[in-house]
Amino acid sequence: MSWEDKVRKVEPYVPGEQPRRSDIIKLNTNECPYPPSPKVAEVLAQFEHDRQRLYPDPAAADLVHALADYYKVGRDQVFVGVGSDDVLAMAFLTYFTCGKPILFPDVTYSFYDVWAELFGIAYERCPLQDDFSLNPQDYCKDNGGIIIANPNAPTGLMADLSVIEQIVAANRESVVIVDEAYVDFGGESAIPLVERYDNLLVVQTFSKSRAMAGMRIGFAVGSPKLIAYLNDAKFSFNSYTMNHLTIACGKACVEDDAYFKEITQKIIATRERVKGELTRLGFTFPDSMTNFLFVTHEKVNAKALFEALKEKGIYVRYFNKPRIDNYLRITIGTDEQMDALIAFIEDYRKNRS
Ligand code: PMP
Repeated sequence: MSWEDKVRKVEPYVPGEQPRRSDIIKLNTNECPYPPSPKVAEVLAQFEHDRQRLYPDPAAADLVHALADYYKVGRDQVFVGVGSDDVLAMAFLTYFTCGKPILFPDVTYSFYDVWAELFGIAYERCPLQDDFSLNPQDYCKDNGGIIIANPNAPTGLMADLSVIEQIVAANRESVVIVDEAYVDFGGESAIPLVERYDNLLVVQTFSKSRAMAGMRIGFAVGSPKLIAYLNDAKFSFNSYTMNHLTIACGKACVEDDAYFKEITQKIIATRERVKGELTRLGFTFPDSMTNFLFVTHEKVNAKALFEALKEKGIYVRYFNKPRIDNYLRITIGTDEQMDALIAFIEDYRKNRS
């Protein structure tokens, strides 16, 4: 047996492109087009160079406490990590261990099956309905755990909180994770449900609505018991996931609620306007409650449009996957960026009809 036969082999998740050019219109990874809170800039400017000698607080207490206060939950009900990818990976490792398949939709965040493969967790994909909506009945069978993105990605569709509650209530013997990466753009969070369901973990991120994808902060809210198990796994893996700056910047960000509301409202307003423009151009899409639109067109080949846009320096996301290979996922940028996108598509359509 060669050393290579002994190596773990996995097929990694492929993140959206991060081109080095700065002159492009970047609508491919659902980042926020606005800068983070000015309070975060103050923290960065004041950071003491010498503090880098010392390890950070392994419990990241300043950030955990700020989040607990903001979401009105106990300090023992919050877990933080290096982006929600880190939090979700740790949650898979911690909660999905019984050997039965975990359940998630067929069209969803494409990291779920990657973590399942990495950790050797069996899984089953539950097909979404034709309109990409979720059928809660699909999650009423024996399972090893459940993960649902709500609003879903890349579809943008949100399931009512009553649907989520139905799934959590029907699965008291499994951990149900609700990935709310996009919930701040008009969705309703399941966080209030954690008081009633100790098997529910709600995961959110600073990468989209809080404009801090580069800082890497994600967090989870759940029952004290669920969070304690997650912390035990984390402290068995890497004690110092959050660095000094991340903890301080994250805290400052959470405390600036006015700015957070201002930028999310701006993105929602732009999204609603762009929905109208794209409908006018003949596109259809699920009614997004996120900072992106998942669009398709009867007469436009999505891959060809993706490539034409890229050529023009406008980056969007194309997934060459079953059911969604004629869709584009377009992040909501600034009004000017969206106008440039629409103008290009208008031209593109004219030249092809
Ligand atoms: N969940 C969903 C549904 C996402 O789209 C993303 C962004 N790729 C993440 C989680 C992870 O985001 P981050 O690690 O930046 O918090």
